[in-house]
Amino acid sequence: MDCCAPSSIVEPAKINCPSCGEKGKSVPLITLKSLLKASFLETIEPDKPYYFCPTSSCNTVYFSGTHSQTFEEDTLKVPVFQKNSNLDIPVCYCFDWTRDRLIQAVSHNQQPIEHIKDQVQSNRCGCEVNNPQGACCLGNVTAYLRSLK
Ligand SMILES: [Zn+2]
Repeated sequence: MDCCAPSSIVEPAKINCPSCGEKGKSVPLITLKSLLKASFLETIEPDKPYYFCPTSSCNTVYFSGTHSQTFEEDTLKVPVFQKNSNLDIPVCYCFDWTRDRLIQAVSHNQQPIEHIKDQVQSNRCGCEVNNPQGACCLGNVTAYLRSLK
């Protein structure tokens, strides 16, 4: 493989958010393509890497690796779990597990994490196009369930 070919340049996995200074994680382009509202989607630069900021107190959801662009929560078609503490916000976007639904399931002695894992293992999840963080929700679900105890 030619290490100098533009397509093989490895982008850093983490870059600091220009708004809060915390580390943001690289996010697949397909996530922005599926979740940004049209007028904002029309401004992205597909040859540049984008990053997701998980800081709850920071308004920026996505930013470009060069810090030339930021996208706030209202530029997305869906609310963002990390930025919004309401009970009706999804923790698991693929299978619509909101905070409220998780609370209900736990109070009825159900095992939502096992249910979600089964779906993931059956290759039914689509985190890249459903979840604003562009990655699997299981870590968030686990952390949220732990916070309820
Ligand atoms: Zn931030």
